[in-house]
Amino acid sequence: MSSTNTAQHGTPADAYPPDDMGRWGEFGGRFVPETVMAALDELEAGMNEAFADPAFHAELALLARDFVGRPTPLYLAERLTEDVGGARIWLKREDLAHTGAHKINNALGQAIIAKRLGKQRIVAETGAGQHGVATATACARFGLKAVVYMGEEDMRRQRPNVVRMKMLGAEVIPVTNGAGTLKDALNDAIRDWIANVEDTHYLIGTAAGPHPYPYLVRRLQAVIGQESRAQMLERAGRLPDAVVACVGGGSNAIGIFHSFRDDPVRLIGVEAGGTGGALHARSLSGGKVSILHGSRSYVLCDDDGQVVETHSISAGLDYPGVGPEHAFLHSTGRAEFIGATDDESLVAFDRLCHLEGIIPALETSHALVIAERIAHDLGPTGDVLVGLSGRGDKDVDQIAARRGME
Ligand SMILES: *Cc1c(COP(=O)(O)O)cnc(C)c1O
Repeated sequence: MSSTNTAQHGTPADAYPPDDMGRWGEFGGRFVPETVMAALDELEAGMNEAFADPAFHAELALLARDFVGRPTPLYLAERLTEDVGGARIWLKREDLAHTGAHKINNALGQAIIAKRLGKQRIVAETGAGQHGVATATACARFGLKAVVYMGEEDMRRQRPNVVRMKMLGAEVIPVTNGAGTLKDALNDAIRDWIANVEDTHYLIGTAAGPHPYPYLVRRLQAVIGQESRAQMLERAGRLPDAVVACVGGGSNAIGIFHSFRDDPVRLIGVEAGGTGGALHARSLSGGKVSILHGSRSYVLCDDDGQVVETHSISAGLDYPGVGPEHAFLHSTGRAEFIGATDDESLVAFDRLCHLEGIIPALETSHALVIAERIAHDLGPTGDVLVGLSGRGDKDVDQIAARRGME
């Protein structure tokens, strides 16, 4: 690897860092008001100190083991494999991590950094509510005040997570601007942060936003790929032919991709294809290079740069932007990005429930659509690794309502 820093105590590898401006190629950077610059500089310094400090890694590793339940298992989905009739399908079980998704890996790491910086208050945005729950959990664990912004539409779609956040002691603030979804919640969280930057850390939930967030979040999520690469070698005796993960802002995908970047392994990100028509959230496969939420990346916008309405059945993928490192991987062709529709995802959701006894998140179901397709195409000698980003407990009301189940 080009710039792997082996002095990082077995924690997220430091290959492919961004340049001094926080960019990978033309993507990323910092497009924020002057007032936010100082806060980002402070965070970047805190991040660099933490990553260079063995005590930080030791604290995070202990929590990862005893609080989160890492390493999460690598599971061979035998019945799904048999049914598809192609390559072996392996699931990296982030759904078994504490709070039910990969989000906790990032929330705990950032909470430790916030504490090291002396911040008492955390603001966060949330879409599906998984990041809000992870943030509320990390804040409870460290005695920090959590304030979570969530779109009204998402609060309706993901009610169980709203209740969980409140039980964990977080304040949940409904966002009524715009469509009342993730993008709007993110705007309000940033506004709060700017107004309270002295005592507040903004704990972003995905690998997007201004530098250093995309890099910070990738470092904290890279544990997914590190574990699964070693687990594949141990269990399958080889690396997978393809790694497949769903992409909202891109944190679980960049986390699982990272360790495979120098390997002859296809990296496939799955975006929300929505209705299959004009309504979708395919930022990479259907967007333009623009600036959103402080960084340059692919954005779903019109010719004037106005962000357009997005749609996905899954709140966690319903976002018009995407992290800049994915934009870079897309532009160089190192990773491929494909859409899966709402309907296709519901079919994949049912198949994992019925064939494996695992209820996946709707976000994750998008990855399963493409994983099945790739496994089929590869044939029986292949191996496909899927980032099973989260469990579907949060989605059961929504799916039941859609199907008229009581
Ligand atoms: C939040 C979420 C996602 C999407 O976020 P990324 O940052 O793209 O990973 C995917 N799956 C689950 C289960 C989530 O909770």
